[in-house]
Amino acid sequence: MNCDEIVNLLVDYFDGDLSSDTARRLEEHIDCCPPCVRFIDAYRNTGKICRRALRVQMPRSVKSTLFQFLRAELQSPQR
Ligand SMILES: [Zn+2]
Repeated sequence: MNCDEIVNLLVDYFDGDLSSDTARRLEEHIDCCPPCVRFIDAYRNTGKICRRALRVQMPRSVKSTLFQFLRAELQSPQR
C-alpha cells in the first residue's frame, strides 16, 4: 500500500467498513509512515466535518473540467 491508497481507505477504515485483511495492511503501513500518522491525527481532530467533506459528491461541472484537464495531460507528449 502507498500513502494515496491509505488516504482513500481512511473513511472506510474509521467507519469499520474495511475487511480485516485490508485494515491490517493499512495499520502496517501507518506504523512505519510518519506522514500518514500526521494525516490521521489531523483527520481525527477534524472529525465529522472532514468525513462529510470526503463523502461529498464532486459537482458535475468540476468533474468534467477535471476530466478535460486529465485527458489533455495524458495526450500531451511531454509527461
Ligand atoms: Zn503513508
